[in-house]
Amino acid sequence: MVNAAGKFGPYSQPGPARPTPGAGVLDTRVLPGRGPTGSELVRSRIALRVRLKSMAPGDRLPDVGVLAEELGISEITVRRALEGMCQDGLLDRRRGRAGGTFVASDWDTVVALMHDSDEAASLDAFHLLLECGLVAHAAGGIPDGRLDGVRALVDDMDRSDDPSRLLELETRFHLDLAEALGGPGIREFAADLLGRQCLLLPAPGPDVVRARNRCHADLLDELARGAMAPAVDAVKAHQYAAPS
Ligand SMILES: [Zn+2]
Repeated sequence: MVNAAGKFGPYSQPGPARPTPGAGVLDTRVLPGRGPTGSELVRSRIALRVRLKSMAPGDRLPDVGVLAEELGISEITVRRALEGMCQDGLLDRRRGRAGGTFVASDWDTVVALMHDSDEAASLDAFHLLLECGLVAHAAGGIPDGRLDGVRALVDDMDRSDDPSRLLELETRFHLDLAEALGGPGIREFAADLLGRQCLLLPAPGPDVVRARNRCHADLLDELARGAMAPAVDAVKAHQYAAPS
């Protein structure tokens, strides 16, 4: 099952709906290491959803049962994770008829206190390896049209002046790229990394995002002509992209 960008995961599920490995789809079951705990999953997916603007500070979260089903984890795990996020100040619980659990109205301020540059750097390095690997895996074998959606995002970014829209598109580019090159399971993997990064790292400014977008465009051009090494170079350049 593939969720639209910005929906809570999981983006892939066991069972018949799971994509068959091969034909450009990686089998995530062979990836080493543990997946996120239920609590990390809830945190990172809520953070990702705020970054992708499908949820805003002050918005009410879906009910616990809905979240549990969308994330494929138990209601008790979701409830505990939401309690932890309330204690951290990321969420507000309100009682009464209009009550529920809400994204804190000062979300950005609270997130800024959680920044952890060491952990962010290690996630960043891992994300770089993931994208380099995906590019190497896919280069030369990408079907026509597979990258049209991500190219449209690059064009949208070129036309946008709104800093939060730029950030949203920047994140969406990497999620959609992961799916285009590796399949829905890899999109979920990237969503875990990118969602956690939203809480650990100050968001890049518009000038940096625009510089990164030039790397996106280079990457897609190189992939289109099947040039693996220059495509990998574009992925690496993205990490150090600075305004010119
Ligand atoms: Zn980017």
